[in-house]
Amino acid sequence: MSISTADHRSRARAPLGRAGQLTGGRGARSSEGAAAAAAAAAGAGALAYLLPGLAGAWAPLRAPLAIEDRVTGPRGYALTFDDGPHPRGTPAMLDELARRGSRATFFVVGEQVRRCPGLVGEIIAAGHRVGVHCDRHRNLLRLGPLQVAEDLARAQQTIERAGAGDLSLYRPPYGVPNLAALWLARRRRWRTVLWSHWGRDWESWATPDSIAALLTAGAGAGSVLLLHDADEYGAPGSWRRTAQALPRVLDAMERRGLHPVTL
Ligand SMILES: [Zn+2]
Repeated sequence: MSISTADHRSRARAPLGRAGQLTGGRGARSSEGAAAAAAAAAGAGALAYLLPGLAGAWAPLRAPLAIEDRVTGPRGYALTFDDGPHPRGTPAMLDELARRGSRATFFVVGEQVRRCPGLVGEIIAAGHRVGVHCDRHRNLLRLGPLQVAEDLARAQQTIERAGAGDLSLYRPPYGVPNLAALWLARRRRWRTVLWSHWGRDWESWATPDSIAALLTAGAGAGSVLLLHDADEYGAPGSWRRTAQALPRVLDAMERRGLHPVTL
């Protein structure tokens, strides 16, 4: 609205005499300059808001944005599960992890926690960590700052009430943050953590073997592995294939002398 008004004024001044033209010209340039500056600022603002979204696909952007995708320690790696809890998927992962004496980190979704709140306590009681994924599983690039703030606040309240205690880990849906999400997480002193390797276990074509092979290809000390203990936002039944892949993943990493640690 302000841009079209400035544009209209500059045109109205144009037919003035030489001096007037000069004044009008300056005014026009000034108005156009202000409009262009405003447009550029809006564009730069939008770019700055959306740019962090590339961090999921382009790893070099992560360090400047304080986004982590590694764990420290000479022989450790991290197993992480997103999108739960799930009434059958989460217990399946917990059973296998318990059998192997392994620890993992679960990035849970508020709306899933409300469906089965008891599982957060089970995850914690078994010695694993819980982080915040979101409240509703949406692409943050489509959300404004207020929507992101509301989503994170609701997720935090739900997950803490379910027994997770003080939260300190955050992973945005699809690994795609925006500036608001990063700022809100940092204000809460949460670490934003993505991953270094994935097994694409959410895909309909995935098999336990393909998941394990893809996930562990090139993985070593410090790697952060992404899996999903729920199929709410992936192919139906995908958690079953993930559960079958899990022992193969643990075996493959163990053969490399590595053990899973929490984030
Ligand atoms: Zn997710």
